[in-house]
Amino acid sequence: MLGGGSFTLFHVRGIRISVDWSWFLIFFFLILTMSQRFGETLGESSTAAAPFALAVASAVGFFGSIVLHELGHAFAALRKGIGISSIQLWIFGGVARMDRESDSPATEFEVAVAGPLVTLAIVILASAIGTAAAGVGEFGHALRVGLEFHTAAGVSGIVSMLAWLAAINAFVLVFNLLPAFPMDGGRIARSFIWWRTGNRNLATRYAANLGRVFAYLFIGAGLLLLASGDIFSGVWLALIGMVINGGARGAAMQTALTDRIGDVLVADVMDREPVTIPGEISVEKALDEYFLRYRWPWFPVVDAAHGFLGLLERDRADEVPEVSRASSSVSDLVDHDRALFIRDDTPLDSLLNNQNLRRLGALMAVDADGRLSGVITVEQVGRALRDAAAASN
Ligand SMILES: [Zn+2]
Repeated sequence: MLGGGSFTLFHVRGIRISVDWSWFLIFFFLILTMSQRFGETLGESSTAAAPFALAVASAVGFFGSIVLHELGHAFAALRKGIGISSIQLWIFGGVARMDRESDSPATEFEVAVAGPLVTLAIVILASAIGTAAAGVGEFGHALRVGLEFHTAAGVSGIVSMLAWLAAINAFVLVFNLLPAFPMDGGRIARSFIWWRTGNRNLATRYAANLGRVFAYLFIGAGLLLLASGDIFSGVWLALIGMVINGGARGAAMQTALTDRIGDVLVADVMDREPVTIPGEISVEKALDEYFLRYRWPWFPVVDAAHGFLGLLERDRADEVPEVSRASSSVSDLVDHDRALFIRDDTPLDSLLNNQNLRRLGALMAVDADGRLSGVITVEQVGRALRDAAAASN
């Protein structure tokens, strides 16, 4: 459901922030309903300039809050060495795509709780600014107006917008903290069970079951809302229930798989003698003797002691002007991105969701001293999974 077209909005510290086509639906719907509401609050037509400007500002403020929430997760993950490929907004909020799963309950907890903490900070900030601008009484009034859909309440537009932002983020906070895995609250619950039992798969199964219970509750509540005439909220809640159910089911199914390959390490299945390019040779030589000969899109580059220097992609080598190929060294061109290599004692199951493994088709494996010990391919991971599945039948 996340596939299809996505549009890049901007980058934050190398993280691509993009929107899915479904996001435009919710964005325009929000502007439409909010200009109506601001029109009523200000006693103006909803097509007048002020209600429309406030509606656009509210929608931008709301999605800005969601991006900040996801960046909270993203920065917590990056601090723990988990790469973030992108943050995508879609009809149900935001998703920060991580290159791999957490490797400890503490990491899982910190990454899961970071988003809600950012949202809490936004609620406090919006309330503080609103209260400072209008006083406690009027801000409280604006909040009640916002929540009860009163009309012509006589509060200023900006205060009314701040009240709405505080209220909607408070809703996002509470909703996200429900233990409905894979939502944040469910991830926090999983981290606790994982911490208490020391068993990640068991924790995931418990959290996923709880997530599915919530999913059915959301679907049921959505249908009730739908029956009572609240079509938008009903459909939205029922669909979110279905998305949660799908995510929880997928996670539970994956634990069945990882149970079987629980003690297989990368070193057990990798190719131990990959073709490597010595870092000291020239780009010209690398093109002639490696890229043209083997026709592979990339090679690992190593130094004399077989220390891993990085990855050389064919495109990078091709970009070097022909006149300087003989004089430029391969080691200056390598990509030493942390996400391209892993320790060879990493459990194989932690690679199942690895985005770089999918993109490149392989990852470099290094030993404890940083020497290249092998290359692990998607095919090898797939074969190990099939063997494990066959062995357990
Ligand atoms: Zn979150």
